[in-house]
Amino acid sequence: MFNFLKKSVQGLIKKFGKPAKKKDEVAEDKKIIEEKKDEKVIEKKKITDEKSVPKEKAIEKKEVLCEEAKKSDKEAGEEKVVLEDEKKPVEEPEEVERHEEETKEDKIIPKEEKPKKRGFFSKTISEKDLEKFKLELVKANVSFDVAEKIVEKLKDKEGRNVREILKNELLNLLEQKEFNITEFVKNKINERGNCTVLFFGFNGSGKTTTIARLGNLLLKQKIKVVFAAADTFRAAAIEQISTHGDRLGIDVVKHKYGGDPAAVVFDARKHAETIKGVVLADTAGRLHSDKNLMEELNKVIRINKPDLKILVLDSLTGNDILDQIENFGEMGFDALILTKMDVNEKGGAILSVKQKTDKPILYLGTGQEYEDLEKFDGRKIVEKMLG
Ligand code: GDP
Repeated sequence: MFNFLKKSVQGLIKKFGKPAKKKDEVAEDKKIIEEKKDEKVIEKKKITDEKSVPKEKAIEKKEVLCEEAKKSDKEAGEEKVVLEDEKKPVEEPEEVERHEEETKEDKIIPKEEKPKKRGFFSKTISEKDLEKFKLELVKANVSFDVAEKIVEKLKDKEGRNVREILKNELLNLLEQKEFNITEFVKNKINERGNCTVLFFGFNGSGKTTTIARLGNLLLKQKIKVVFAAADTFRAAAIEQISTHGDRLGIDVVKHKYGGDPAAVVFDARKHAETIKGVVLADTAGRLHSDKNLMEELNKVIRINKPDLKILVLDSLTGNDILDQIENFGEMGFDALILTKMDVNEKGGAILSVKQKTDKPILYLGTGQEYEDLEKFDGRKIVEKMLG
């Protein structure tokens, strides 16, 4: 999933700032430094003690030596002048003074014993590197606006902070209000006896597959589900949703091809009322330029007043994904589901989508099995991106 995006984000971090130390690593480093300090202080004290004892002994020794020298001089019959050295007090051992200076961490811990600094290079990220990073983001399907916004945050900043800055920016972008669809549906059924969720989006974006996966998920939560085969336009669409219904044991309300989709959803709602369940309504994939289909979708909404409208987007779509959001925005969708994340090597679309709309992304489609629906979790995504 989003390897391209991961690579460019992690590339910048690797170049400018190593991952910040974890708390326990910092504590461990401090402990090593303290231990080394203690060891060295003890060692120095030992040396000082050893040297301070011979101070008196040295005087004694010198006196003995002088006496012996005088004796031998006398014996030699010569008048010996007292040695200069003898007049001087015995000097404090040098080590004692040096020890005072060496209490600084730098001198105490031998280089090879110092914990390796996992610190950062503190240079500022250059314009050239920022431009390169921006280009990589765009190549990873991040929209130009979002790429610029991210890069702007890194301008004139020290490289060592790059991970933290990127983390905050990405978390900001992916932040959203918690929305629990299962709870929402359960509440509506409890309040009113039924609930209607309408799905729309481009042809091939993954609407039908998503409806099947969500149906499976709600069934597991003991919620009764009805499928509305309201894509009466695309050949085989009715068969496709019927097959899912058969496999999952979910009732499918369908009309003939070319029939009125608003009527299909209406009938499905009636059925949902009788079983106290939720309608998951498929619709025909459409181009926003296709006025007829857009009007048809508006009619479905007008007549059935769905409780929730979900826009399904193919995450592999490049920047066009933003146009889709804008145009389907006219229908007033409440939430999004992004499909095909499992085969999405670039991954930037997720950032662009979040920048474009404040509607929550409920799930990510991560494969073709019923279970391949992952709850959207911005923090998890950021962790994956940063490595
Ligand atoms: P619709 O036209 O919007 O109803 O799209 P479909 O549900 O028919 O999906 C179009 C194609 O995309 C099908 O081949 C699906 O199996 C495939 N598809 C849908 N979601 C995913 C997904 O999350 N991952 C992958 N790899 N394929 C998906």
